[in-house]
Amino acid sequence: MPLGRTQTQIIDKLEEMGKLSAEAKGVLLARPDEPTGDQLDSILQADHHITMFQLLLAKCRALGLAPFNVARYKVHTNTFEKIDLEFCQKNMILPVGQVGDFLLVAFANPFDTTVATKIQDKTGQRVVRLLGREADIRDKLKKDQVHDEVQFSDVVDKLGTQFADDETEIKDEDLENEDSAPIIQLANRIIEDAYFAGTSDIHVEPWEKEVVVRYRIDGLTQEKLRLPAKVAGALVARLKIMCNLDIAERRLPQDGRIVFKQYNKKNIDVDLRVSTAPLNYGEGVVMRILDKQKSTLPLSALGFTEANLAKYRECIRQPYGMILHCGPTGSGKSMTLYAALAEINTPDVNIQTAEDPIEYTLPGLNQMQMNKQIGLDFQRALRCYLRMDPDIILVGEIRDKETAQIACEAALTGHLLVSTLHTNDAPSTVSRMGEMGIEPFNISAALVCVCAQRLLRRVCKNCKVKYTPEGREADIIMKALDLKEVPEIFKAAPGGCHICGGNGYKGRVGIHELMVNCEEIVEAINKEVEVADLKRVCMKNGMKTMHQDSMLKVKFGLTTMEDALSNVPADMIAVGGGGEAAEPKAKKHGH
Ligand SMILES: [Zn+2]
Repeated sequence: MPLGRTQTQIIDKLEEMGKLSAEAKGVLLARPDEPTGDQLDSILQADHHITMFQLLLAKCRALGLAPFNVARYKVHTNTFEKIDLEFCQKNMILPVGQVGDFLLVAFANPFDTTVATKIQDKTGQRVVRLLGREADIRDKLKKDQVHDEVQFSDVVDKLGTQFADDETEIKDEDLENEDSAPIIQLANRIIEDAYFAGTSDIHVEPWEKEVVVRYRIDGLTQEKLRLPAKVAGALVARLKIMCNLDIAERRLPQDGRIVFKQYNKKNIDVDLRVSTAPLNYGEGVVMRILDKQKSTLPLSALGFTEANLAKYRECIRQPYGMILHCGPTGSGKSMTLYAALAEINTPDVNIQTAEDPIEYTLPGLNQMQMNKQIGLDFQRALRCYLRMDPDIILVGEIRDKETAQIACEAALTGHLLVSTLHTNDAPSTVSRMGEMGIEPFNISAALVCVCAQRLLRRVCKNCKVKYTPEGREADIIMKALDLKEVPEIFKAAPGGCHICGGNGYKGRVGIHELMVNCEEIVEAINKEVEVADLKRVCMKNGMKTMHQDSMLKVKFGLTTMEDALSNVPADMIAVGGGGEAAEPKAKKHGH
């Protein structure tokens, strides 16, 4: 056999993708010579008109890896912080990001599996392998890619000089015209710095004597900068200019969006959703960073227990029905949704999304950004999609009656509909749909599953402290997991260590409550039983509550009792097949 096993697989995938005819495949497989990987790449491109991108996709499918467009990645000062440049050059890899505890690394040559192990040993972090084009990676590893950046201190110094004189008024032209005006640099620098630090939100908060800039990282805010109070007005005005808001209006809240690509030469392609609010010491600003290049993690890396992962995977492979994710903002719903879509995103299905905002972009998806100003809302997008007959529809959120109704209709007419709701747990999502006017029998017929989730803080592996819980803590975990003995668990070390930056926690882990529809649940929904009763039926049919899942993660040493209980209180309902849980069944026999 002249072609290697992987080479043959790549050719198979290209044929599956419809890019290579059976005839062409036959010719390639019958080659008498033994081309190297690079040679085969050139043959496919020159003789068979396969594009670089198609080739990358085929390789990804053959190897079961996710593609990464390295050409669009911008190298910055922190890129080689964890893995040094020399190691990267030697192994043709590029660190491209970090999500939670995982390091995302683009590989040019994924065949050498020892490299990932070496990185794990070096960094103590698990590696998610992505596949990038070798030429792109080589290009990014050239030394001159890494530019020195303007440091905060430089900008603040300049601001100090400019604002040293009390008489100085900030003029409008300082906010708009000059490329080098310190206030403009400051605004850019804050956004860049926050982006590279893995921040989800930037808070600009005017206090009485100063303005404080804080970043939210891994769910917790931390202070980053303190500036003189009089900088606040100029900074806020500059941010408002960047999103075309009315800078004269300081008494009312405003919402806008910064397309940051327009303002920086470093090619950082992020958008920011901006909200301003009139606070007692001036206007405050909160900016949510929407990283369009953000990679999704594989489903298996999101902290699902094995049992839940198997059930969830079965759900997302259903041909039609409704899959709902619920939890507050920042609970990781979107990440899970996109990880699910990435898994079922094959060339033979059509996926269309209506989002506000678009948080991730995935190749092969048709994504639509909502625009309230011109009346493009979820229900309008859904109506449009129903006419286009896709296989899978994602609606960013169901929050009104109309959207709920069309979503339900879509799910009942042969589409797999995926969406989110701001409910607290899985069973109460059903009653929320009821409150939005959906008939119980339509909900029960449409529903595939509801997945409620939260993100807990991951206790630092390096400094966590083992202990045996006592009293109330012991009772709670033993009851939740139906244990006979008190397990040894971990708490965060006070003061942490150098690896967790003194926090005792590093990264996050998901906890899930997966309610998979079944006959008994259908019956309970149709009877419109109380939420607590529905929860009992679900538990009886194998659902682990979010509290139980959090206790499981405490037992596994992934998080602590303290963090688990501060996010999800203990269940009020008795666990297991005991008296209370059997009640609904007794009722059924009574009929
Ligand atoms: Zn630590």
